[in-house]
Amino acid sequence: MSARVAALIVAAGRSDRFGADRPKQFLPLAGRAVLAHAVEAFRRHAAIGAIVVVGPEGRLDEVENALGGLDDIRIVPGGPTRGESVRAGLEALAMAPPEIVLIHDGARPLITTAVIDAVIVGVDAETGAIAALPVSDTLKRADGAGHIAATVDRDRLWRAQTPQGFPFARLRAAQAAATGTETDDAAVFEAAGGRVRLVAGDPDNLKITFAEDLDRAEAILAMRTPMDIRTGTGFDVHRLGPGHSVWLCGVEIPFERTLIGHSDADVGLHALVDAILGAIGAGDIGEHFPPTDERWRGAASKLFVAEAMRLLAERGGRIVNADVTLLAERPKINPHKAAMRVALADMLAVTPDRVNVKATTMEELGFVGREEGIAAQAVATVLLPG
Ligand code: MG
Repeated sequence: MSARVAALIVAAGRSDRFGADRPKQFLPLAGRAVLAHAVEAFRRHAAIGAIVVVGPEGRLDEVENALGGLDDIRIVPGGPTRGESVRAGLEALAMAPPEIVLIHDGARPLITTAVIDAVIVGVDAETGAIAALPVSDTLKRADGAGHIAATVDRDRLWRAQTPQGFPFARLRAAQAAATGTETDDAAVFEAAGGRVRLVAGDPDNLKITFAEDLDRAEAILAMRTPMDIRTGTGFDVHRLGPGHSVWLCGVEIPFERTLIGHSDADVGLHALVDAILGAIGAGDIGEHFPPTDERWRGAASKLFVAEAMRLLAERGGRIVNADVTLLAERPKINPHKAAMRVALADMLAVTPDRVNVKATTMEELGFVGREEGIAAQAVATVLLPG
């Protein structure tokens, strides 16, 4: 059964205006190829029934790699010009012809569902529709020396984007008659006497052309990505025994006793590690660093924080804030809070204003009050990609 609406994504260009060793549609953008973002937008769209990607001849394996095993996408080789590549794609669709074909540039990764919708709605049996934006800047025509020769009236001028949508059979006929000098598909359709409607594009639907376009696209994607906020808590206790100092929140404090443990027994960091692991659903500190493992004997507990941070980074997350409360009768924590905050901020890759250390005695009550041990609790909030 043929799809009513098909997408033809043209990614056959070899040009690279910013000197990378790969055509721009294969360059990485937020962890995937530029082309993969464009294809995914059409794949997600409920009205699109078939997708053909036209890749550079001889480099189709790069297209496959970029799309990472999307087996519902057909990939066909393009030609030396854009027009020939479009014709190759239309040919691939002609075996099960759709009513409407949307042609999209593989170097426009930020295309949205709303713009795809607007183009589909704009197409009918006679009329094509393209995404476009009215020109808002004043336009100047230059002379040969970089001076203004004339001010161009911008009234009724539009900038053409893609997708450009057409009744399939009519576009195919128009393409067969094309001269090869047209710069977009609408021009081919117009040249064959077709009418083309202008529908609202999106200023963010940019075409990756220069290196700075990739930075802009990253920033736009970061704003669009929904984030998932998670919180975890941690609690730890260590016994006090003979010694000369205690480690608390990554700071060594001279004291007449020490905290006993397999590692350096930094209860503050242990509670914090559990809070981070809790926030990302990754178990607890004992599972990751079993006390039976000789590797962790006498280890600096900031190694445990580093591992929790690695697990967080693996999930694409980062720390929003952390708050640690130390429960100790002695030593006095207050003089060390500022140093602890700096140490924690460093370990958590955040500014110190996102870290807090509090301390309380236990009013001489219980094991903390009797100075048999020190306890700590922590809360960590993390941001994960949604
Ligand atoms: Mg512990």
